[in-house]
Amino acid sequence: MAKDDKKDNTLKLKFDSARNLAPAPESKSIAKIKPQYELFINGSFVKPESGKYFDTINPATEEKLSQVAEASPADVDKAIKSAKSAYQKVWSKMPGKERAKYIFRISRMIQEKAREFAVVESLDGGKPIRESRDFDVPTAANHFFYYAGWADKLNYAFPTKTPRPVGVASQIIPWNFPLLMAAWKIAPALATGNTVVLKSAETTPLTALMLAELIQEADLPPGVVNIITGAGETGAAMVSHPDTDKIAFTGSTDVGKIIQKAVASTHKKVTLELGGKAANIIFDDAPLDQAVEGVINGIFFNQGHVCCAGSRLYVQESVYDIVLRKLKDRLETLIVGDPLDKNTDIGAINSRGQLETIQKYLKIGVQEGGEIYQSSCPLPKKGFFCSPTLFTNVSQSSRIAQEEIFGPVLSILTFRTEDEVIEKANNTPYGLSAGVWTDKGSKIFNMTTKLRAGVVWANTFNKFDPTSPFGGFKESGFGREGGLHGLMPYLHLD
Ligand code: ADP
Repeated sequence: MAKDDKKDNTLKLKFDSARNLAPAPESKSIAKIKPQYELFINGSFVKPESGKYFDTINPATEEKLSQVAEASPADVDKAIKSAKSAYQKVWSKMPGKERAKYIFRISRMIQEKAREFAVVESLDGGKPIRESRDFDVPTAANHFFYYAGWADKLNYAFPTKTPRPVGVASQIIPWNFPLLMAAWKIAPALATGNTVVLKSAETTPLTALMLAELIQEADLPPGVVNIITGAGETGAAMVSHPDTDKIAFTGSTDVGKIIQKAVASTHKKVTLELGGKAANIIFDDAPLDQAVEGVINGIFFNQGHVCCAGSRLYVQESVYDIVLRKLKDRLETLIVGDPLDKNTDIGAINSRGQLETIQKYLKIGVQEGGEIYQSSCPLPKKGFFCSPTLFTNVSQSSRIAQEEIFGPVLSILTFRTEDEVIEKANNTPYGLSAGVWTDKGSKIFNMTTKLRAGVVWANTFNKFDPTSPFGGFKESGFGREGGLHGLMPYLHLD
């Protein structure tokens, strides 16, 4: 047997054994999903004015999990009025140290219900339980914990200013991190003395509604946090409502532009966290195994459903062959399947619509002359799943190298020099995040100052912490969430 064949056989055995692991599913019994959910307005769960509901399904099985209320403009009006009244009568007057107690309580209660939150997040959104259990839920609790600490220290945060809350914050979130996005938005708003109306995304409403139940249980004064469900029309009604003082939006660049137009020449403060097309850059002096693992983590875990996903990989030409080989090998060990199984690396694509978008881009990539490589991992027969995919022979102008796909699809390009890769990496309408892999500190500093991205990770990727600001350049939006910077959009600082 030739040496390479022997090596391939050993790898095949390794892959097969990784995929033949006995199932290790997390039990669903802890998730107490109700058959129907109402709108959380003014401290109570109320029926929608229209009487309309829509289904939320499990994308891994296509089965209905529950139905949730569709908030009409009349419901939005009710929610915003209740937030305004709570702002004027209670929350803006409450001392910071008292507000902090409520926010700490929410953090502790999320920790107490962490397992249930994680299971519901994976059922409703399709993400692997490892991700929801080890990242989404603890980081959500951590955000409340962190911002609770700021509530009575705003004068220290901005010592030369007189920080004042803005009023009612309308917050609209996407489906990729449903609970975590809610925490990112609600925690700083409450810490700074604002009240909130939050709308979850239409395909992933359940953990935000669980959070509403938790907030009710935490005895937050009625109206301080209102959580509603609905689609684009509901979001548009929140944006255009005259009593909305601040809009915090995370979602697509297209909707971000609509929002920006809608608020032009109004008093409303806005932060937009939009799309991305992050460049992950591997230099030939990088620790390659670590870099390959970082690339895999950056685009394939969580199905590529991350706005800062490292969807463009730039590899220095001298190590291209070895990096490609390592990537293909690692791709073969990834397990695609049941999101509730603890062995699963890649869960379900969030919706049929999103799967169709990804499939459209796979076709475009091939039509544009890209060479496609997909993992041989079998996909479940039911549900929305996509094989992790690599594209080589991609040109800088290819649509798969320029447009956000939001799926487990990696475009691989090459470069020779630092200047060349900086130019290529910056040549996109987006600027949310980037990654650099090298063992030279000087190269890291050169790259981080020249890459036009809100976050640049060095020798790691997709790392988050409540204390660090996050946000974009160019069409990736503006404003920062997280850290001390994340307080500013919720304050007047005169
Ligand atoms: P994605 O393509 O990732 O689903 P969207 O930008 O369409 O991103 O959705 C993100 C959030 O924005 C969702 O909660 C969605 O309901 C909401 N949304 C969609 N259209 C509008 C709109 N015109 N105004 C306000 N919110 C909207």
